[in-house]
Amino acid sequence: MAEVKVQNLVLGYGDVKALDDVSLTFPDGQLFGLLGPSGSGKTTLLRCIAGFILPESGTISIAGETVDAVPVEKREIGMMFQNYALFPNMSVADNIGFGLKVRNIEGSEFKRRVNEALDLVKLAGLGSRRPHELSGGQRQRVALARAIVTRPRVLLLDEPLSALDKALRVDMQVELKRIQREVGITTIFVTHDQEEALTLSDQIGILREGRLVRSGPPQSLYQAPGDHFTASFLGDINTFEGVAGPAGLRLADGTLLPWPAGRLDPARTAIAVRPEEMHVSSTAPAEYTCAVRGTLEHMMFSGPTALCRVRYGERLLKVLVKNSELEDIPPAGDVWVSWPAKRSMLLHNET
Ligand code: ADP
Ligand code: MG
Repeated sequence: MAEVKVQNLVLGYGDVKALDDVSLTFPDGQLFGLLGPSGSGKTTLLRCIAGFILPESGTISIAGETVDAVPVEKREIGMMFQNYALFPNMSVADNIGFGLKVRNIEGSEFKRRVNEALDLVKLAGLGSRRPHELSGGQRQRVALARAIVTRPRVLLLDEPLSALDKALRVDMQVELKRIQREVGITTIFVTHDQEEALTLSDQIGILREGRLVRSGPPQSLYQAPGDHFTASFLGDINTFEGVAGPAGLRLADGTLLPWPAGRLDPARTAIAVRPEEMHVSSTAPAEYTCAVRGTLEHMMFSGPTALCRVRYGERLLKVLVKNSELEDIPPAGDVWVSWPAKRSMLLHNET
């Protein structure tokens, strides 16, 4: 059991609070995605957990024990960072086994462990090659094998895939998930790519300016983000602001958007709706839905879906419609944009 727990971490660089009272639990054996814009404190948090930097205050524990006084090499953590470097003059096997040598593991045990790691990352038989004889994706696997060959309790990955091109990155995401599952190691994965975080993570934490904004399972964060920052960071949204009443949100033009059933909340004055939850039609939709009247300005067809831009007052709504819905939509002019009330995401008032 190697749950990682950070409590009330604070770390400043001059005026910048890189970590501003961060408390978070990374569950044992899970892949936790840390997401946030550039400069939000993701790398700083990983470096604190690894032990490279000491927070000004707060405490970190691994498997129930405080590690605040434990040096880097004794924390039993495997790491892979964005700009990882393999030793160019060493074979793949020696690169992978570097951490074993440091721990005086040699001979047949060394070979066994390196071969096991090579198998795991599907590079069996390539141990005698040099890094320059491998593809980019293969080198990435070597770095991953090197990080886990010592059987660490925790794996820290700081934007490990951001240097790869899109196709290779998707392949590596699948591989990474497989390997993480197979080894069952508590993994903290930093990315600024929301799609990558949603795809890979069991849990997601969102950082903003050194603060943890929200955390939870990907699907619930995506569907019920709670605040505008989280909602827009995880995907596209259309927001509606108005005056909240018992029946729903009253927009400036008088339109009433009913609250989702059971979610009556007169304190919320904004809702957000994801483009893929909305529909466009030429006739008024059924009564139970939320609907606004707008003008279709343009449509971008992209195979399975089309993106419609609908002018509603001062703003352009984004609606993603399926191919099968296209025949109900006039090429331009007045349309209804509608969605089921249960797809309205209630947002907290911004502070
Ligand atoms: P992220 O990894 O989310 O992009 P970082 O953790 O690298 O963010 O940085 C968080 C904040 O701390 C940023 O404002 C960054 O400029 C600042 N920072 C990070 N490391 C240092 C440092 N060694 N010296 C000064 N400021 C730093
Ligand atoms: Mg970083």
